[in-house]
Amino acid sequence: MSNDVLIVGGGTVGLATGFELVRKGTPVTLFEKGKAGHGTSWQAAGMLAPDAEIGFEELELYELNRESLRRWPDFAERVETASGVNVDYRDEGTLIVADDRDSAEALRRLYEFQEEQGLNVEWLTGEEARKIEPFVAPRLSAAVYAPSDHQVDNRQLLTALREAFVAEGGTLHEETPVAAVAPDEATPAVVTEDGTRVEGKEVVVAAGVWSRDLDGLTPDAQPPVRPVKGQMIQLRRERPFDLQHVIRGPDAYLAPKSSGRIVVGATSEEMGFDTTVTAGGLYDLLEGAWEVVPGIYDLPVDDTWAGLRPASRDHAPLLGRTAAPGVIMATGHYRHGILLTPVTAEEVATLVRTGETSDWLGPFAPTRFPNAQSPSPTA
Ligand SMILES: Cc1cc2nc3c(=O)[nH]c(=O)nc-3n(C[C@H](O)[C@H](O)[C@H](O)COP(=O)(O)OP(=O)(O)OC[C@H]3O[C@@H](n4cnc5c(N)ncnc54)[C@H](O)[C@@H]3O)c2cc1C
Repeated sequence: MSNDVLIVGGGTVGLATGFELVRKGTPVTLFEKGKAGHGTSWQAAGMLAPDAEIGFEELELYELNRESLRRWPDFAERVETASGVNVDYRDEGTLIVADDRDSAEALRRLYEFQEEQGLNVEWLTGEEARKIEPFVAPRLSAAVYAPSDHQVDNRQLLTALREAFVAEGGTLHEETPVAAVAPDEATPAVVTEDGTRVEGKEVVVAAGVWSRDLDGLTPDAQPPVRPVKGQMIQLRRERPFDLQHVIRGPDAYLAPKSSGRIVVGATSEEMGFDTTVTAGGLYDLLEGAWEVVPGIYDLPVDDTWAGLRPASRDHAPLLGRTAAPGVIMATGHYRHGILLTPVTAEEVATLVRTGETSDWLGPFAPTRFPNAQSPSPTA
């Protein structure tokens, strides 16, 4: 038995929550089934883009996204200081571009909604967009510039978080899958796959898309999280080609990192736990990216992969106490897990330390789904 907080899962959510706890003096033991940082968080694009990604029906989530972005610069600095690893925080903004009449119409609707919500966005002609980013296609008809959207290199972030967690005194068990959690008000526990039972002060489930696979939770405490597959391509910048901003076209986005990686994504597929990279997926991404930034044509392809976004039924995260005593959920971050890292980590750490659920977490209570067994209304 220990007095540690036990965290299941070493992705951006688990590592950052652990980091926020240990740096404030709360001991943490984190269990990771593989190598920490190499789950979905490794596969992401690292965009911190609440304005470009605002959803017509998701205003509560938008507020949380915005708040997390507000906290990002301080969080990045803390993690960099503790780890000595740069996370490549970049603040050039996003250009959302349209390349025909239909996509210009859709962009106009998005822009009007963004304006209505008071976002910091600007409507540009194609020519004005090219002044900001010379490599966008000459035939682009219109663009929206969202300068408040930022990005990080998520792979550098994960390396930094792992270092920072350990440097601050966190205990990290890699290659240690957790088979079950054992809820209990006083001494909740986890049971690892080799049968070892470890008791602690609280259990935080941050196992991303795999959070539902843990044994030991009654159906009303199981997180209704399902995988949504995203295929990606990594290109390498070669001069004279250059890109400074994240470019979002109608069918693909391009996120340039300072290291020269250009991440092109992403498909969105309901395929269960399948992570096959397909010819069709790559074709769609390359065509979509090439239409808005034709200069990518000659760039080398470094890598391709598919990741699994952890999506809840309403596509918002599950943050806070569950129906199971002693078990806190921090999962279901869907397409915003990198963006939502600071607010999740800080607010879940506060919940663990004080027992108080903050106003930020309130709307995202895991108990909001009355019948949690099925991951989606139709599943
Ligand atoms: C293609 C793609 C692009 C994306 N782009 C962006 C983006 O630009 N911006 C953004 O904000 N978000 C983006 N996302 C979403 C983001 O990646 C996720 O929301 C985020 O990574 C979820 O983090 P996590 O820590 O919950 O999950 P993970 O990173 O998957 O971490 C969970 C960890 O738990 C471990 N684990 C699982 N089960 C167990 C167990 N039983 N025992 C021990 N360990 C276990 C896993 O090995 C894993 O390391 C993207 C996602 C995808 C797929």
